[in-house]
Amino acid sequence: MKVLIIEDTITSATVVCSWLTNMRVLALHAKTGEEGLEIFKQERPDLILLDIIMPGIDGFEVARCIRRFEKYHGWWTPIIFLTARADENDLQCAIEAGGDDYLIKPVSEVVLKAKINAMCRMAQMRDSLRRTQEKLRRANDQLQRLSAIDSLTGIANRRRFDATLLREWRRCSRSALPLSLLVVDVDLFKLFNDHYGHQMGDECLKVVAHTLQERSRRQDDLVARYGGEEFAAILPETDHEGALAVAEEMRAGVAALGVDHAFSTVASVVTVSIGVASVIPPKDSEAGIPALIKAADDALYYAKRSGRNQVKQVTGVIRVVGSGAGVGGRIPSQE
Ligand code: GH3
Ligand code: MG
Ligand code: MG
Ligand code: MG
Repeated sequence: MKVLIIEDTITSATVVCSWLTNMRVLALHAKTGEEGLEIFKQERPDLILLDIIMPGIDGFEVARCIRRFEKYHGWWTPIIFLTARADENDLQCAIEAGGDDYLIKPVSEVVLKAKINAMCRMAQMRDSLRRTQEKLRRANDQLQRLSAIDSLTGIANRRRFDATLLREWRRCSRSALPLSLLVVDVDLFKLFNDHYGHQMGDECLKVVAHTLQERSRRQDDLVARYGGEEFAAILPETDHEGALAVAEEMRAGVAALGVDHAFSTVASVVTVSIGVASVIPPKDSEAGIPALIKAADDALYYAKRSGRNQVKQVTGVIRVVGSGAGVGGRIPSQE
């Protein structure tokens, strides 16, 4: 343990230093406030004994400087004023300046030791509180990360998808930029599970998830597990043509994985169907989000009906009408 004594009267400092040494405490001595501040910053003592009247800056100012410095660095060091001044106003000033206790000289060895021990106990409690806070903060960060991740595939989960879609919708709406959404569904996956087993099914979902993520090219793109064997990709600042190109990349990427699916009527390997919808979100139109999802979903089912392993889109302009939110897109096959 280290105690810094800031005291200009050598005799007084020498006595206190010898008591500290008896306590097996390392005593550091500064003869002025300025020197005290330097040693404080370099040595980070566990406790400070501080005189008031000194040449140069006085003890009050030293305490204020220490507290300002500590506030910035997130430290706290107990300060005990040790002074000849018995005036109550000085005591009040000392505490206001940042002191934790105030002892009037001459002080006995027993009293000083007891006060130092009490202060150290508080400092230790404070340290342990800080360590606990740090642990909690880390645990909380970890939880936050986990709560956004799908545990099977390791990609974003539905929760993160919902939050991101809302955020990107608002952002694109502010800047009048297009926002595209892909809904991806594994073809005939029930048959895959039935024949290869659920565990193989899970492995398949993992590689599909990673392929989809790999094929989304931009930093702001988000691929998420939407639920079961369905995935979704949010492509901000991406128009219809761009979204179709990404979707086609994803579809081809999954087929190219070459995961055997001998029971599929579509291909000999696992494939996906993808529905695409794009919109330039109008201002104050968040209620239109479900319409965008529905449009992508409709396009997905059109892809399914058309034979699977393909990308389909909602053609025409998706209109999000005020808070009522409708989609004016048309699916070509329904015409
Ligand atoms: P379609 O081409 O029309 O999409 O046919 P499908 O068989 O993929 O569609 P359906 O919705 O009937 O079946 C989806 C299947 O996905 C049901 C379930 O067995 C499987 N599935 C959903 N979630 C999981 C999962 O987490 N792990 C595994 N292994 N299978 C899952
Ligand atoms: Mg003095
Ligand atoms: Mg499905
Ligand atoms: Mg499916």
